[in-house]
Amino acid sequence: MVHPRVLHALSTPLLGHLDPAFLALMNDIQALLRVVFQTKNHFTIAVSGTGSAGMEASIVNIVEPGDAVIIGVNGLFGTRLATIVERCGGKAILVEAPWGQILEPDAIEAALRRSSPVKAVAIVHAETSTGAWQPLEPIANLCRNHDTLFVVDAVTSLGGAPVEVDRLGIDVCYSATQKCLSCPPGLSPFTLSDRALAAIRARRTPCQSWYLDMALIADYWAEGSRAYHHTAPISMLYALREALRLVEEEGLPARFTRHRLNGDALAAGLTELGLSPLPPLEHRLPMLTCVTVPAHIPEAKIRASLLSTYGIEIGGGLGPLKGKVWRIGLMGESSTEAYVLTLLKALEDLFIRDGWLSTPGTALRAAARIYGRKKP
Ligand SMILES: *Cc1c(COP(=O)(O)O)cnc(C)c1O
Repeated sequence: MVHPRVLHALSTPLLGHLDPAFLALMNDIQALLRVVFQTKNHFTIAVSGTGSAGMEASIVNIVEPGDAVIIGVNGLFGTRLATIVERCGGKAILVEAPWGQILEPDAIEAALRRSSPVKAVAIVHAETSTGAWQPLEPIANLCRNHDTLFVVDAVTSLGGAPVEVDRLGIDVCYSATQKCLSCPPGLSPFTLSDRALAAIRARRTPCQSWYLDMALIADYWAEGSRAYHHTAPISMLYALREALRLVEEEGLPARFTRHRLNGDALAAGLTELGLSPLPPLEHRLPMLTCVTVPAHIPEAKIRASLLSTYGIEIGGGLGPLKGKVWRIGLMGESSTEAYVLTLLKALEDLFIRDGWLSTPGTALRAAARIYGRKKP
């Protein structure tokens, strides 16, 4: 869901993309993005395109033909990163973990030792296909010790969980507007450290993408130069500024707590219904709850009933998890107690109807316990 203020911002009359008032709006966005990325990085922008554009921009700018890149693969999005590396002529070195599990730093370290020199390590912070929350700090430290760039996909985490770009020393980080930032899809928040910028400037070959070449785009976003590269998606940038203002008004710590509380309450309720979370307890994402659906439950049918009868959309499994899990997002504006309780009530009704649950209120009581315990 998107806040009405963001929808309203989308309908603001248009400005030219080099209009001084629009350039001021770009400055606002850069300053607000630095807050959510917890960075002072000068190069902090919104890439034109969805999260995948940010993913592609990260890889095509860093990777040259022949470069080795370690990719953590424990879900769909890690697999995509590897595909892009290969398309750039790079060598993708996969470090894998089962879907739903996190990547072990020891495995990354072994790959770094085996494959030196390694240009970058790329991992997904919040694996939306499995609900796993990857700890970043140990891998960030490995990257520093091995003088390797650290690329982080924060598409689902940014605005819902801490993404500490400067404290951890993340070199390349990208996100998307439509997940925890609660803005329509269309832009990819993106930040580069000085180390990453230096690597881009030192390339031996031109970036394989002209549209996503950050060395060229820097001249549009840099204050002072503002040279035309491509026309900025004006209305989307209006919307993003408003969405980021809402994040700033709430404050990051309060926003993270809200996502955690609602995610915990949902997981507690679902567990009572026999739907247990796929990732281990300590690595469960707050904004994306992935639960295993028991074999006797026709999962696609129940999802269809939720949508048609209750107006609630939840996700099914992807890849090897197809037909086996549900993925339930509680992101940004959609992370509310009302949504959690409404979904649990709907599931209770459907489960009672089909004879899989006998006592009404079981899941709701489990969620209420979490809310009662953690609320002031
Ligand atoms: C959604 C998502 C993407 C892709 O973003 P799009 O906006 O769909 O292009 C990339 N990585 C992760 C982890 C995602 O959840």
